[in-house]
Amino acid sequence: MIRPVATLEEHLRRALGDGLLTQEPLRHHTTFRIGGPADYYFAAHVPDHLVAALRAASELGIPVFLLGGGSNLLVSDEGFRGLVVRNACDEVEFDGTAAHIGCGADFLDLIYQCRDRELSGLEFAAGIPGSVGGALYGNAGCYGEDIGSYTIECTITSLDGSKVETKPASWFQFAYRDSRLKRDPRVLISCLLQLRKGNRAEIQKVIDEKLEIRRVKHPQWRVEPTAGSYFKNLPPDWQMPGAKHSPGTRRVPAGQLLDEVGCRGLRVGDAMVFAKHANIIVNAGHASAREVLELAAIMKARVRERFGVELEEEVMFLGEKPRLGGLAGRR
Ligand SMILES: Cc1cc2nc3c(=O)[nH]c(=O)nc-3n(C[C@H](O)[C@H](O)[C@H](O)COP(=O)(O)OP(=O)(O)OC[C@H]3O[C@@H](n4cnc5c(N)ncnc54)[C@H](O)[C@@H]3O)c2cc1C
Repeated sequence: MIRPVATLEEHLRRALGDGLLTQEPLRHHTTFRIGGPADYYFAAHVPDHLVAALRAASELGIPVFLLGGGSNLLVSDEGFRGLVVRNACDEVEFDGTAAHIGCGADFLDLIYQCRDRELSGLEFAAGIPGSVGGALYGNAGCYGEDIGSYTIECTITSLDGSKVETKPASWFQFAYRDSRLKRDPRVLISCLLQLRKGNRAEIQKVIDEKLEIRRVKHPQWRVEPTAGSYFKNLPPDWQMPGAKHSPGTRRVPAGQLLDEVGCRGLRVGDAMVFAKHANIIVNAGHASAREVLELAAIMKARVRERFGVELEEEVMFLGEKPRLGGLAGRR
């Protein structure tokens, strides 16, 4: 008897077991609550499973995407043709003032664990959603600080899971919302961060302050889905036309330019510019990725026309981009 040829799904299931999901809606895994289905989806809770998933995808020739907390992502309405691997390896071990962290750990949860051990440093980032891996990938930060400055080294693997190695922080070339991983992709498995001895009450005070600032200024992503700031702030040498020249000052916020061109409250379908922050797009109902892209194109065009500068997206796009027609391409 001729045995039927195993399907791709059967091959993957043999490698990954019952944790493998098919046609999994990615809107369930992003803070924007937008995104069509992934052909295959697998949450890896231990590093061996993470590497096994990458190897299986590589052997079967399937495109793979590494997902953290999904808080900096806009996923196509058509979803993703391939395997989405969610890094859910979240073990944290402390060694004096250093912490060895599974990159699937939730960033805020890590900050609370540090507070409980009276370890100070990361509390500036309280309220940045997502995983530690996602934070390292984009060197997440705020108020002039970023996670890269606390990094000693990270353990990474090649995308096909064939080579696991540990690299010092310098290798990652951390910069403003940027790391080498954006140009030279690897999967972050774990990292070693350097903290300093602190005081629990003082750390908690900073956490409370940061969370309160966000509560007042930012959407609460669990009720007003969003991916945070949509565009990066301007390069450090960029000056607002007409403004007093002030070299060496911090970046001009993209939100300032977007405000000048009246973007607050702009809406395309259910994609809307947040009323309290012109650089944040919220999903005000059942927004599609197309609507968000159309809205973002209008925002960019307004800034380009008034200031002659091209805003650069901070939010990443996953999947196939639709062709934008009509007003979005022109305004
Ligand atoms: C309300 C709100 C406020 C925000 N405020 C800030 C802020 O103040 N500062 C800031 O910097 N960001 C902010 N963000 C954006 C976002 O939270 C951060 O960029 C966050 O660090 C992304 O982490 P994540 O795990 O959700 O990544 P994801 O969105 O899952 O992924 C983002 C990218 O990282 C890659 N990635 C994730 N994990 C790994 C891994 N283990 N190995 C390799 N690549 C990986 C993904 O492939 C993808 O390319 C905000 C977002 C929201 C919704």
